Amino acid sequence: MTHEVAVVPGDGIGREVVPAAVDVLDAADASIEFVHAEAGDATKAERGEALPEETRKTVADADATLFGAAGETAADVILPLRSVVGSYANVRPVRAYPGTDALAPETDLVFIRENTEGVYSGIESEITAGVRTLTRVVTDEASEAIADFGFAYAERNGYDRVTVAHKANVMTATDGLFLDAVERVSQRRGAAYDAELMDALAMELVMNSEAYGVVVCPNLAGDVLSDLAAGLVGGLGMLPSANIGDENALFEPVHGTAPDIAGDGVANPAATMLSAALLLEYLGHHAEANQVREAVEGVLADGPRTPDLGGTASTGQIRDAVVGRLP
Ligand code: ATP
Ligand code: MG
Repeated sequence: MTHEVAVVPGDGIGREVVPAAVDVLDAADASIEFVHAEAGDATKAERGEALPEETRKTVADADATLFGAAGETAADVILPLRSVVGSYANVRPVRAYPGTDALAPETDLVFIRENTEGVYSGIESEITAGVRTLTRVVTDEASEAIADFGFAYAERNGYDRVTVAHKANVMTATDGLFLDAVERVSQRRGAAYDAELMDALAMELVMNSEAYGVVVCPNLAGDVLSDLAAGLVGGLGMLPSANIGDENALFEPVHGTAPDIAGDGVANPAATMLSAALLLEYLGHHAEANQVREAVEGVLADGPRTPDLGGTASTGQIRDAVVGRLP
């Protein structure tokens, strides 16, 4: 069955790494049809809007989307696109690859971050001059959905440990509800987990990241803890992510437009290629997903390497090397 994948490179190095990843997808799996769409700063300059209706429609109609990065207009592009795909789960695998300078080389964990509520509810107000409040929204529905997604992800991907980050000792009502939802889902699925206070977990992750597998987090905790863990595996150029909804999903590297190297042709395409591997997995093309992941890992281990990893190779040379390793 042919799948339709929307391709939105955006700005900066998105325009270099996304085409490289598309070439890899193309070489790995002939059953994907690509539909290209524009968004970001350049689109705004040309058409007056960063996210044209046409692009929303292309993303909404596709089976999945591969996105690069947007510059100044990021908030006007990626936040609406995440809601176009109905994404409630942000998946951020954090793995140390051989051949990279990882602080914690045994790290292999996956953050499953709630993507719709918590302190990112956007409900802020000014009570009076100099006094502002933020409303933290936590619902049974979103908490159960993210817990269920986390347990299922662990099962599907062979992680035997699920940890749930919270601060229910202080935020008793909201994180209390979150934890109750996790407990219900765990009983229903017959799956075990540990609940850990997010501050203690931050320290544990630094000292002991190899002990963790799937980490299910409320929105803000997931944002902070996953960046912390990214620091343990040495580099933005390697981290993929997925925004998963019930019927659609969007895949993107964790890094941004990297204006300091954009246009030089030396961006590391690994994060975007690994995001493409997550996309293949999402579409059910498991063998091809593994092939892409193994090819990228092989190139990271043996070279060639881009300058961020100490090499001199171009993005195109990495693409050729990865394509060359596909069966
Ligand atoms: P943005 O506002 O779009 O996020 P930024 O200035 O924060 O842009 P990032 O893309 O977040 O830039 O990158 C931060 C740093 O990491 C930059 O120095 C950038 O060159 C480097 N970097 C990020 N991604 C890559 C990559 N794929 N290859 C090489 N270096 C990268
Ligand atoms: Mg950035």
